[in-house]
Amino acid sequence: MTHELRWNPLLGSWIVVAGHRIKRPWRKGECPFCPGGPETGGEWTVLSIPNKYPSLSPDAPEVCSESYLFKKERAQGICEVIIETTSHEGDFHTIPLQNVMEYLKLLGERTVELAKYSFIRYVLPFKNKGKIIGVSLTHPHSQIYALPIIPYRVAREITMVKKFRKNHDLNLFEEIYQNEAKEGKRILYENELFMLLLPYYAMWPYELHIYPKKAFHLLSDLKKEDRRELAKAIMVATAVYSKMFGDEYSYIMMFHQAPVKGEYPDYWLHVEFYTPHLSRERLKYPAGIEWGGWIFTYDGVPEERLHELKSILNEEVDLSFL
Ligand SMILES: [Zn+2]
Ligand SMILES: [Zn+2]
Repeated sequence: MTHELRWNPLLGSWIVVAGHRIKRPWRKGECPFCPGGPETGGEWTVLSIPNKYPSLSPDAPEVCSESYLFKKERAQGICEVIIETTSHEGDFHTIPLQNVMEYLKLLGERTVELAKYSFIRYVLPFKNKGKIIGVSLTHPHSQIYALPIIPYRVAREITMVKKFRKNHDLNLFEEIYQNEAKEGKRILYENELFMLLLPYYAMWPYELHIYPKKAFHLLSDLKKEDRRELAKAIMVATAVYSKMFGDEYSYIMMFHQAPVKGEYPDYWLHVEFYTPHLSRERLKYPAGIEWGGWIFTYDGVPEERLHELKSILNEEVDLSFL
């Protein structure tokens, strides 16, 4: 069965071809993530388990490129599932702060472990949430992809961060959060260490980013107090989304951390949330200009949309978890 990385020479990016994933069953019936199941076993608060249908695996078949143009590489990597809580329903804002801190700790520990494999260059933790984006399992869970390549989007950010250092002798992440602080128009929530904002350059209508106020490169750099503050920012984001978009709310949450091989002093750990909601009733579909041109049209004005999120936060969200 074909299982390989294929190179797109026009875009300079990789595609994972996972022939075996076509047989992936649609899970129904009993929850595989509730405690006590065959995959989950006994006592835990958060748990990492192997992804049963990985698109990358440590023993992916050896491959050999047939031509200089149609290059391929081994689809070597590790895919894990992180079960965020023992509760069958809910999200970060409905489980205890301590639980979310444990979740971040586990992501850091998995990053360290996965980085030990010689073929792993990047560890990408993320969460897909909600039926709208195809997630049928309601038990709160995330995933980790440990990759033999640096994801295209992160590689692009690294290039820009390096360029900014060269041109201005400054750290780009530091400049962004300081300028956002100065303008103050797009900040949804902040604490001593992290800032949750709807970025100046948002692509999705209610996109949110969490930037640190000091240099953390990997999730494993976070100490207990740092994890507490990051957990709060994540909880605020999901609490606001759930109030804003109702029961069927969906989002993608990505942790962008530094590659695990090599030195990236100017690349800071940050979190990005993308949601397809344009409103409670309407969704944003990336269409011609977005897909075919990679130019996002922002329907609305970021500062006004931030205002909507802020009203929800102030009027409808119970922040007792902070
Ligand atoms: Zn469950
Ligand atoms: Zn990023």
